[in-house]
Amino acid sequence: MSAAAGGLAPVAGEPDPGGADCVGCGRCCHHGPRTVHFLEADEARMGPRLLEMYTDLEVKPPGWRFMKNEGSRCAGLDVSVEGRFPCKVYEVRPEDCRIVEPGSEACLEARRLGKLGGSVVFRR
Ligand code: SF4
Ligand code: SF4
Repeated sequence: MSAAAGGLAPVAGEPDPGGADCVGCGRCCHHGPRTVHFLEADEARMGPRLLEMYTDLEVKPPGWRFMKNEGSRCAGLDVSVEGRFPCKVYEVRPEDCRIVEPGSEACLEARRLGKLGGSVVFRR
């Protein structure tokens, strides 16, 4: 699969609204660092073990916590099987990830760009 700058190749077509195409897509999980942030409820849901493994807590006030990045993608993405992009923390993923629903404007933009675009705004 050829990679676009900072992301993957575009994907054509509308995805299944129920999420059946997500594991084969993974475009919205490609983004820069400091993208997926945590609020208290997100931290509580994920729990200390996974927070330690997959997130960074910034020292600088106000001390935001973010998912770690691995290059141009979220560290929570399992890329061990080529062409498959399951989330390693799917059941406890933070609210930022839940906002991007299959078929939403942000999803379609991510598929077009090969990575998460600017149409999604996370409230902090
Ligand atoms: S871009 Fe859309 S289809 Fe692709 S993984 Fe994200 S929500 Fe699913
Ligand atoms: S936590 Fe999971 S769903 Fe959210 S961006 Fe990372 S890999 Fe994608």
